[in-house]
Amino acid sequence: MTPEEKKAFEAELYSWVGKEIIPPTPGLDLVNEPMIRQWAEVLGDENPVYTDRAYAEASSKGGIVAPASMLWIWSMRGYPMAFAAQQDLSKVDGQVRLHRWITEQGLTGVLGTNCDQEYHQELRPGDTVIANMVVKSISEEKATAMGNGYFIETLTTFKNQHDEVVGTMIFRVLRFTPAQAPKPVAESAATENKAPTRIRSVRGHDNAWWWDIVEKQKKLPIQRCKGCQTLRHPPRPFCAECQSGEWDHIESTLEGEVFSFIELHYPEIPGYSYPLVCAVISLDEGTRIVSNIIDCKPEDVKIGKRVKGEILQVDADNIIPQFRLVAN
Ligand SMILES: [Zn+2]
Repeated sequence: MTPEEKKAFEAELYSWVGKEIIPPTPGLDLVNEPMIRQWAEVLGDENPVYTDRAYAEASSKGGIVAPASMLWIWSMRGYPMAFAAQQDLSKVDGQVRLHRWITEQGLTGVLGTNCDQEYHQELRPGDTVIANMVVKSISEEKATAMGNGYFIETLTTFKNQHDEVVGTMIFRVLRFTPAQAPKPVAESAATENKAPTRIRSVRGHDNAWWWDIVEKQKKLPIQRCKGCQTLRHPPRPFCAECQSGEWDHIESTLEGEVFSFIELHYPEIPGYSYPLVCAVISLDEGTRIVSNIIDCKPEDVKIGKRVKGEILQVDADNIIPQFRLVAN
């Protein structure tokens, strides 16, 4: 967008603030027991006040109520929502029109970021839920990790058939121009004519030291609590036994046995060679580590078999521990 185009875009965008983009619309179904039961089942909510009439009638609720978190469900437009983008503009509501227009301006990214609901009244089977939606605010342009864009906040008010407010919802969505995405591994390898590499493990404040020793010294360190001497892996800031944050480390002999393993078949991931055995190794020091068992026939790997590890450069980007079977 040129500066002039952007000015025009923002003028149009901000003109939506305060507009009612969904007029008061009754839900497709009345609040009903089958939908309540399915919701409670899916979420694993076993509170009988949602499903057991006798229990609910004897309770302080005096009968079955809908879980408060179903508030939005009653006004959703059902399966056709999935095709809103293909519907005739004259037939769609303001919300769909607004978002279609933003997409046409090149802000193709959509990310729901916040949803705050307030519940004012219980909903019961037989109630009608009537929802309307207003654009509450639109932020100035923000730079985010996803790309540059605008936060759009809507306020939805839910009323019942007696015109009483049963709840409200503020929903915040980021509409953005996607930042240049990194090329997929396979594609970048093809274009740069370089062998694909494994995904590099994430280094952070609590484990960078561990990777440093593995990569530079070709050793396998195991973190040890200074308070109670308990070993732990993977690295983390506190001891689960005594909560001490003080620690040092010992060097593993890289000897141990197979605690558990699987052979990975599908999908084949670029950068790995197959057959590929992934195993949990019990190190003789007393901790476990997830690694590969290499240079073996997968059928020879058995729980309890002895293994010996080595720090290996497996590709251009990765130096990691790998294990081999040794004779029992
Ligand atoms: Zn400890």
